[in-house]
Amino acid sequence: MGAFANALGTVLFMTQLASATMHATLPNPPEWRGASEGLIAARDNPWITPTEANGFTETPSYAETRAWLERLDAASPMIRMETFGRSPQGRDLLVVYATPNGELDPLKPTLLVQAGIHSGEIDGKEAGMMLLRDIAFGSQRHLVERVNLVFVPIFNVDGHERSGPFNRPNQRGPNNQGWRNTAQNLNLNRDYVKADAPEMRAMLSLLQRVHPDLYIDVHVTDGMDYQYDITYTFQGRDGSYAASPHIARWLNSYYRPGVDAALQHNGHIPGDLVFAHNERDLSQGLLGYPFTPRYSQAYGDITHMASVLIENHSLKPFRQRVLGTYVLIQESLRQLAEHGSELRSATQADQRERPTTLPAGWRETLAPARTRHFLPMQHEPIASAASGASETHWTGRAAPAADLAQYGVEPTITLHRPRAYWVPATKVEVIEVLRAHGIAFETITAPRTVDVDMLRLPDAQVASGPPAEGRTRVNAGAPIRIHRPEWMPAGSIRVPTDQPLGDLAVIMLDPESEDSLFAWGFFNEILQRVEYADGYVMAPLADRMLAEDPQLKREFEARLASDPAFAADPDARLAWFYARSAYVDGRYQLYPVGIEP
Ligand SMILES: [Zn+2]
Repeated sequence: MGAFANALGTVLFMTQLASATMHATLPNPPEWRGASEGLIAARDNPWITPTEANGFTETPSYAETRAWLERLDAASPMIRMETFGRSPQGRDLLVVYATPNGELDPLKPTLLVQAGIHSGEIDGKEAGMMLLRDIAFGSQRHLVERVNLVFVPIFNVDGHERSGPFNRPNQRGPNNQGWRNTAQNLNLNRDYVKADAPEMRAMLSLLQRVHPDLYIDVHVTDGMDYQYDITYTFQGRDGSYAASPHIARWLNSYYRPGVDAALQHNGHIPGDLVFAHNERDLSQGLLGYPFTPRYSQAYGDITHMASVLIENHSLKPFRQRVLGTYVLIQESLRQLAEHGSELRSATQADQRERPTTLPAGWRETLAPARTRHFLPMQHEPIASAASGASETHWTGRAAPAADLAQYGVEPTITLHRPRAYWVPATKVEVIEVLRAHGIAFETITAPRTVDVDMLRLPDAQVASGPPAEGRTRVNAGAPIRIHRPEWMPAGSIRVPTDQPLGDLAVIMLDPESEDSLFAWGFFNEILQRVEYADGYVMAPLADRMLAEDPQLKREFEARLASDPAFAADPDARLAWFYARSAYVDGRYQLYPVGIEP
């Protein structure tokens, strides 16, 4: 019952809303049978998981999950559980190691499976618990003879305990679902670069300690109905862009065929992760959706760690999704046992690459990139009094396969890789987050004047609308590059891009990148004007500037002629002179990070 610890809050809320007890009606799933049903423990198995025991209707609470894993750890030398951090509400983050002796062998490939980053999407926790049981006491022991398994049962532990029956309107089971965001209302799967959440800081240090060869992030999707039950993606799928092209080749040539075959063999229908352009009209094709390094699998790609995003289909029953996840993890272990050395070579090849340019902003292509063979479900239009429009009624029956237009993505911003960045000691939080990622840098112990390019950002635009992940996002606009000597105080750092994490350094420190720390609002203070000149001071100074500088006079007259609003605004006119006077703030709109080109 611990799972319903927050039910009181739900009840109080319901008394205020007459229809709040009404559940959403989901389209019926097709009847399903599969060989993976044989993975479910017998009723009399003393190691039956809580979810198997309740018939896949409810998921155990954090405390129940932890207690079950502690019992398993105590009972088997192959299982060892540790904590690797603490959540804002004070819960320990748990990690479980499954190997022949409970220790990691660095010579063997390592799989890290992460469940519950969005804790309502909890299939990975259930599948992992069943698999750990079968490794410790059942038929799956061989899976960890040649591979280390590292398992995070619940990443977003606080969200997991904000549990209730109304958290995931588009998802079929379990009855108690956790919440997507953390107790700080942060979405961990947008936090991989800025690393604001303590949970993310803990995960980054776990990744650096464990060095997974393959990182799997398990979710449940939303969106339209289709026949696939287990969908997944990775950067470079189908030849699309990847910052780690050798890893992408391994995923396309070994991993994907192996996983698809294993899922099909067990009665599942694996597919690519897709989104419809318009869920009311599939004929408009499938969306080209860019994942940037704020997302798990794109972060893996930019840091040269093979990473796969699993998205089980939300309309399929919880039981079927968990079993598919089990098969997928099982096959991932087999692929690493068979082809782990090829993956390690591919990873090392990507770590050695130093591309001179990096795409760092994306848009969808105007025309479809290709067609995709697709297994849809039948749907029909239905009039809705509430929306006043025609909505889609999914019938729950398979429709004939169709070839749909699949749009792609193309870069809007391409960055040049400089030799190094200089971050001044004053940007403490920037240096901290670079360190949290394991990026190598040199710290100067005495002040130094360095010869660098500095960027002025006169077109920087603060985003309108609500904040994103608690931050005010900024678009850098086109920078003006100024080559000059720049004084750096003691404690400043030089970040070379000639390192395995050099691509990540560029993505974080070039302000034009969509996932740069600048774009995430780490530098908003430079956009604020500080000093000003009173009109009675500025007007006579401006008159003298006009009298003494004919070129300035011509520019001013041109501006007056072209901009009547400016001409009619005394303050704007004086501000124009202030900006060209010796009093102007030289650091206004100046990005304080120096660039060694
Ligand atoms: Zn998710």
